[in-house]
Amino acid sequence: MIRFYNTLSRKKEDFVPIGKIVTMYSCGPTVYNYAHIGNMRAYIFMDSVRRVLKYNGYKLKGVMNITDVGHLLSDGDDGEDKMEKASREQQRSVYEIAETYTKAFLTDLEKLNIGKPEIIAKATDHIDDMIDYVKKLVELGYGYEISDGIYFDISKFPTYGKLSGLDLNNQIAGARVDVNGEKRHPADFALWKKAPKEHIMQWRSPWGMGYPGWHIECSAMSKKYLGDRFDIHTGGVDHIPVHHENEIAQSEALEGHQTVNYWMHGEFMQVDGGKMSKSLGNTYTVSDLENKGYSPMEFRYFCLNTHYRKTLNFTFAAMDSAKISYSRLLSAIDQHKNGNADTDSASIEKYRNEFLEAIDDDVNIPLALGVMWSALKEAPSRRIYDLVQDFDRVLGLRLNTVPTQQKIDAPQEVIDLAEKRLSARKNKDWATSDELRDQIAALGYIVADKKDGYDIKKKP
Ligand code: AMP
Ligand code: ZN
Repeated sequence: MIRFYNTLSRKKEDFVPIGKIVTMYSCGPTVYNYAHIGNMRAYIFMDSVRRVLKYNGYKLKGVMNITDVGHLLSDGDDGEDKMEKASREQQRSVYEIAETYTKAFLTDLEKLNIGKPEIIAKATDHIDDMIDYVKKLVELGYGYEISDGIYFDISKFPTYGKLSGLDLNNQIAGARVDVNGEKRHPADFALWKKAPKEHIMQWRSPWGMGYPGWHIECSAMSKKYLGDRFDIHTGGVDHIPVHHENEIAQSEALEGHQTVNYWMHGEFMQVDGGKMSKSLGNTYTVSDLENKGYSPMEFRYFCLNTHYRKTLNFTFAAMDSAKISYSRLLSAIDQHKNGNADTDSASIEKYRNEFLEAIDDDVNIPLALGVMWSALKEAPSRRIYDLVQDFDRVLGLRLNTVPTQQKIDAPQEVIDLAEKRLSARKNKDWATSDELRDQIAALGYIVADKKDGYDIKKKP
């Protein structure tokens, strides 16, 4: 039985799907810039959930949105639209911006071996669905019009705040004075905004020209593709207090019942123990990592070593270790490929059960990796190789890749230095590369460069 931690109940629950096909909605990217590695951690998490379900034999219908309108600079209703800001700064049309970064995002998914959800839905292709949705909320008395848009009246939805455990009264007492005095309640949020003339993206609506709020996008598209009840909704922890509270308010107000059974949230990635931010210059992309000599699979391996509900601290030192471990992993697997030891069926079953138990316990991939490493310690055996390839259906680490450097007859210390040197060379850091060659020489070995790798020989 799979168990998932449900943010709504704050505990692990048995997973019981509504129907034969598991339905799942995942908040997708806002395509105003290249996704950074923190964003990609969020989608590796989504992918792990999908793979665990598939490994357990479920079929999936997953939907992911692409936000190409309506996400303002704050998660609330203030500031410029992120897309329009990017368009102004980069002197390109919003549509070009959306196309460029959507493409880049999909490429990153492929590089990281993240399975694409069955349906990928662009917000701008669903404006009519959103207008319909807002109209219904207004008819039901949950939406009201003021001079700059249509707002959701949270006083009509008494359980507002249940996902994050927000006490609205406390929050309001301490909240800054809201600039919009027309709102009935400071926490009321925009369903639809009336567009000032200069706003590039705008559509005709019953309330004049305007554009949708960010939250309505996910409520409208999940309803369209998954219906009024679905199994799982994923996102990052930053979505809990605003975006997902608002989605719950909209969807449950419209349907009159709970619409999502399991809310799952991925924790954040930090860099060097702090926030990732443009001003610190530490919002690396997958391509940045590749340019520094780290492959997407090494990054995926790095991510999978930490449980999705724990903060993951990215440092280049940690990436170096992940790189070395991933390379050792491929070599260890390769040893089993043509192995002829006869691992007994009971051992294989034991590993298989332990692996399944780990992944079914709230997607505990780090524990599952441990099971795989234990299996690899067995004498070289094709059965272990096949077992690990089967595990890779969940891990997605492309474990059938032939290691770049075959078994090297040198102490681990030397191999580690050679791996570091390979990174340095990919990073065109020739000074470090030379220094590492000298260190290797001091240990009595000669390293020779090859395309995409190296050879190590003992000094004559
Ligand atoms: P955005 O494109 O800003 O809407 O974010 C896309 C996804 O990345 C969302 O699911 C966010 O929750 C997630 N996200 C943003 N920053 C981080 C981070 N530093 N670590 C992990 N996930 C993040
Ligand atoms: Zn969303």
